[in-house]
Formats: sequence, structure tokens, C-alpha cells
Amino acid sequence: MTTPVYENFINGHFLKNQTGDTFAVKNPATDEVIYHVEIADEFIQNAAIESAKQGFAAWSAMTPIERSRILLKAVAILRERNDELAKVEVLDTGKPWQEAECVDVETGADVIEYFAGLAPAQVGQQQMVGNDFYYTRKEPLGICAGIGAWNYPLQIACWKSGPALAAGNAVIFKPSEETPLGAIKLAEIFIEAGVPAGVFNVVQGAAEVGQWLTANPNIEKVSFTGEVGTGKKVMASAAGSLKDVTMELGGKSPLLVFDDADVSQAVSAAMLGNFYTQGEICTNCTRIYVHKNVYQQFIDELKTRTEQNIIAGDPMDPEVNLGALISKKHQELVLGYIDKGIQEGATLLTGGKALSPASAPNGYFVEPTVFVDCKDDMTIVKEEIFGPVMSVLVFDDEDDVIQRANDTHLGLAAGVFTKDIQRAHRVIHQLQAGICWINSYGNSPAEMPVGGYKQSGVGRENGIETLDHYTQTKSIYVGMSNIESPF
Ligand code: NAD
Repeated sequence: MTTPVYENFINGHFLKNQTGDTFAVKNPATDEVIYHVEIADEFIQNAAIESAKQGFAAWSAMTPIERSRILLKAVAILRERNDELAKVEVLDTGKPWQEAECVDVETGADVIEYFAGLAPAQVGQQQMVGNDFYYTRKEPLGICAGIGAWNYPLQIACWKSGPALAAGNAVIFKPSEETPLGAIKLAEIFIEAGVPAGVFNVVQGAAEVGQWLTANPNIEKVSFTGEVGTGKKVMASAAGSLKDVTMELGGKSPLLVFDDADVSQAVSAAMLGNFYTQGEICTNCTRIYVHKNVYQQFIDELKTRTEQNIIAGDPMDPEVNLGALISKKHQELVLGYIDKGIQEGATLLTGGKALSPASAPNGYFVEPTVFVDCKDDMTIVKEEIFGPVMSVLVFDDEDDVIQRANDTHLGLAAGVFTKDIQRAHRVIHQLQAGICWINSYGNSPAEMPVGGYKQSGVGRENGIETLDHYTQTKSIYVGMSNIESPF
């Protein structure tokens, strides 16, 4: 059986490359190649820039309300095609259908809808300066590049294109080479909704194509989602042409469970923040600090629920709630971290092995894994694993646990469970993280800005302020009286 070959999406249609080079994409749950994708060669790259230039000219000339109307059509199509698009995400990522069906497309559509609504409301300022005055205009940047990770491919494409397009920019988007199809589907939907050709282009490939985007002087901004190490390379390359950057990077986020917390709720948060999307979520609370008075109760309930309530298997089965990791290589990396945890003396409470479920025997599954009695200097506690591996640590003093939670170069997210309202806010205010939850974990609505402190990121996505990251301010001074000149 031959598999489909997808071309790059440029100027409103698929465009064949000249080298004929392609790469294969596998379904992580079956280890089978499901389609091939053409790599963006020099011909495609040049065409993408020309296309985006033309797209920008047409799109930025429209009024914000015209753009808004078109983007809202795209939102409606995304929602209509929810199931078809969710299936694409399941086959590309290996995540459970029961998640993709209600989260991936929905949260992507929400963000485009949010920015489509905001764009017509973005205003400049006007101020008198004596008899003269100035006013400001919010103008789009031009061509923006988006580079995506593989864990939420369609959602990331929506989160980057939503504010960029609402503000009047053109976009060249490069999805992860592991999960290239969602962005193509989005490109088709934008065209169907009436977004002019050239406004949203998709180029395909791995690091080399990403590097080309970050170095290209025609591109004004790069919004990147991925690993910290890659983010540093992207930022260094973008500096060559002084591009604006947004960086959504990795994390090693703490969850603090105090002894007055609702322990069952805290266990729910810990499981969601470690096993949802089989642990491949940047904000995951992979360091769980539990007060010594509730430590035993917490780990007893955690063990029972982890062993009884998790169903791994064919991700398209609606009962399955633990999918396959993205690749064989990633599965090996995660298993390597588990070995390290054991070697360095952490106690394995449950899990720890690769899984081969009957309904998906060749998939890259890893058992939901919990380490207890962890120490702060263990590798599993310090490094992002990006798999279903939780580390539980004990604490007994508030100031001490805050200091331990902050003792990392990362700062993406953090959470606190306590019924003491003053402690909840006091502690959260001291945690060095950009996305925080109190008695909750993981929700990320379109309205709420998200991004990292320290090496977890630069800039924010979502929320009102993001529109400012996709526009630039032009100040215009208006003279109302004769110029006073010594010349
Ligand atoms: P990655 O850094 O390996 O790749 C991300 C993207 O960068 C891919 O599209 C890849 O092709 C591209 N790329 C690779 N090298 C490049 C280079 N030199 N120049 C330009 N582009 C290059 O990350 P990943 O493995 O795809 O994703 C997992 C990581 O993403 C984790 O660290 C996770 O925490 C992070 N992540 C962060 C967020 C967030 O919002 N903060 C969200 C999702 C994932």
C-alpha cells in the first residue's frame, strides 16, 4: 500500500519541491509509516518568502474587523471538523482520542476566536503636548515565523497564528517533523475561510528548515516552542537580524502539597500534571513536594489510583487514557531517566517499564511511573523528562520548600494545594514561575497569558498582552504651530 506524500503549503496551495527529498512520519502507537512529507528546499523557501510578502500586503490592508470576520469563519470550520482533526492529532502524536477529541482542536480554536475578537479593539494613544499632539498606531510586524513542538501540534499552530494573523501579519509556520499534518489542515481551513493566499504558509522539515527561518532577514519575528537548548540556538540565530522572539520552552515545575490540602484533589492534580498526554506537557508538575504529615496518605492514594485507573492501549479507543510516546528514541530516553532514578537511589513506587498493550503492541508506551523518597539533587528531579515520570519529595517547612522549589534554572509553572487562603497566595507570590495554579493544575484558557520565568521562556502567549508582541507602535507627532528654529 502506498502512503500519501504531502507537499509544502505555499501561497494558498500545495507546492512540489525541486529536490524530491521527503521524510517519513510514523504513528507512535503502531510504529508504522503513515505518510511522507516533502522537505522545504531552497525553491520552497524562496517561494514561501515571496508568498508571505504578497500575503502580508493583502492582509495588512484589510481592516481589523474584516480580518476578524474571516478568522471567526476559520474558528467555525475548526469546530465543525473537530473529530477529523482530532484523529489527525491522535495518529501523529500517539495521544489518547479522549483527550484530543475535547482539548486539542477546541483550545486551538478558542485562541483564534479570542484574538479575532480582540484585534478590532486594539487602539493607539493620543496626547496633547502643548498645542501640538502625538498619536500612536499599532502596526503589524510583517512576516512572522512560527516553529512548533510535537506534543500539541495543531494547538501550537493555532496559538501562534491566532494573534499573528489577527494583528495583520503573515506567517510562515514550521511544524515539528514528527507531527506535520495538523498545520497543513489549518492552512487549508484558513483558505476555506477566506484568508488570502500567502498569509499562512507551511514549510516542512527539521532543524535545517528551522535554522533557515530564524536567520532569514525578511522575517521580523520568530515564535518558538520547544526545548531550552533549541530555544537558545533559535534566539542566537534570530539576533543576527535582530528579530523579535517569543520562546515557549521546557520546565521542571513544582507542586507543593501542604498538610491542610484536600489530598485526593492534590493526587488528581499530580496525576493530571504527570500522566495527561502521557507526560509530554511542558507545564507538568514533575516535582511534587508533599508535607510530611500527609506524605504517606498522598503516596498510598497515588499508588492505588495510578495502578487501577490508567488504561494504556490503542489511542483511538475512547476508553484509553494513556497513549504512546512520540518516538522510539523518546521512549528510550524516558526509560534511560527511569534507570538513572533507580541507580541514584530513588524508590520506585509504581511503573518503571516499557509497556506493550494488547491493542497496540508495537507502540512506544511507558508505564506511568512514580518515584518517591526523591532528593533534590537527583537527575530525575533536576532534568525535564517529558514522559510519564513523577518524582515525589517530602518537606516540613514552608520557607524551605519555597527555596527548594525555586532552586532550578527553569520557571515555567508551579502549583500549590492548601486550604489556607493566605498561605496559598503568600507561597505562589514567592514561586519563580510564569504560570501558577492554586488548588488546580494545568488549565490554560485563551484569556490567560502563559510563558516562562528564567530559562523557560521569553515573552507570553495568549491573553491581551500577546497582541502587543505581534504589533509595533508607530508614534506620529503633529505640529500645530510654526516651527521654532535657530537656523
Ligand atoms: P525541539 O526543541 O527538539 O524542537 C522544536 C522545534 O524546533 C521543531 O519544529 C524542530 O524541528 C525545530 N528545531 C530543531 N532545531 C532547530 C534549530 N536549530 N533552529 C530552529 N528550529 C529548530 O522540541 P520538541 O522535542 O519538539 O518538543 C519538546 C519540548 O518542547 C519540551 O522541552 C517541552 O517542554 C517544550 N514545550 C514547551 C511548551 C511551552 O509552551 N512552554 C509547549 C510545548 C512543548
